[in-house]
Amino acid sequence: MKEIERIKALSDAFGPSGFEDDVAKLVKQELKEFEHVKEDKMRNVTCVVNPKGKGPRVMLDAHLDEVGLIVQAIKPNGTMNFLTLGRIMPANLPSSSFKIRNKKGKDVEAVIAAKPPHFSSAKEKDALPQIENMVLDCGSVSQEMTEKDFHIGIASPAVPNVTCTYDEEKRLFFGKAFDCRIGVAAEIETLKRLKNKKLPCVLQASFASQEEVGDRGVYCNYKELQPDVMICFEGCPADDTFQEAHMVQAAMYKGPMLRHFDVSMITHPRFQKFALDVARKKKIPVQESVRSGGGTNAGRIHLEGVPCIVIGIPVRYIHSSNCYCTLDDYDAAVNLAVELVQALDAKTVDGFQFYN
Ligand SMILES: [Zn+2]
Repeated sequence: MKEIERIKALSDAFGPSGFEDDVAKLVKQELKEFEHVKEDKMRNVTCVVNPKGKGPRVMLDAHLDEVGLIVQAIKPNGTMNFLTLGRIMPANLPSSSFKIRNKKGKDVEAVIAAKPPHFSSAKEKDALPQIENMVLDCGSVSQEMTEKDFHIGIASPAVPNVTCTYDEEKRLFFGKAFDCRIGVAAEIETLKRLKNKKLPCVLQASFASQEEVGDRGVYCNYKELQPDVMICFEGCPADDTFQEAHMVQAAMYKGPMLRHFDVSMITHPRFQKFALDVARKKKIPVQESVRSGGGTNAGRIHLEGVPCIVIGIPVRYIHSSNCYCTLDDYDAAVNLAVELVQALDAKTVDGFQFYN
């Protein structure tokens, strides 16, 4: 698949945490040209580009899953209580269209019901919506109809009902799940561009399940690949529409964000400096950030003593149904990763440990 089509297909793929089947399948199709591709029983995919290569083991990572919903219970009137898979702001949900994957594997359109103003008290109109007061509604009028005719049951998963579009002139994508499918796309492209190059390292790839519920899948891939260092691709929250100018650290069209700090990790300072130096030398635009929230798979893997950096592609309105990201930022992320992998030789990686 060509890059734009690949990004669109990845964005559209159904894959909330724990239900990554379609995304794993798509990734494996894109990795067909590589010999050493594996998938474990948890839908974690790994690939080794040059298993006979020498040098440090460099693992690229992106997560397959997206935030979504899971049906908790079906009410007598046919609507459904739900919980979130990953963190979603309740205020972003009312009136959103979702698709529920039913027990037959088909997707059913549903809406998150919002009480019309006609039935709401003044107090209700002012109150912030709460998940426990919302329901998914697929148009059913009874519990039996939801189960028997729509084939939806408890634990049926759901994702936003959004189809990705691309504006060629503005190099702009609109769609869902760019966290982390734009990262998945960047990782696939990086592997393809490095396939026939002579590398100073062993290039490994991890495509991990269940990041949004606590960085779970990446640990399986870590055990499988035992990397020396990790480069974590992410779709990261763009902050250019609601932060004061001096606080903007992840704007669209300004390159990927290299994160120094979030609540899950203090980024390895020597690896981070190396990455920023390479970006400057190669004239690849990057942004730097210090985040008061957030967390990534790197947060899990650095606890194993593996230096990690995060390359985040800015995504506006992350963890909601409708998001933007740009081809420019994706391109710069791929270009940076391609340069970093070619520079991560044994001496460089040793230098992350010893002061020279
Ligand atoms: Zn993510």
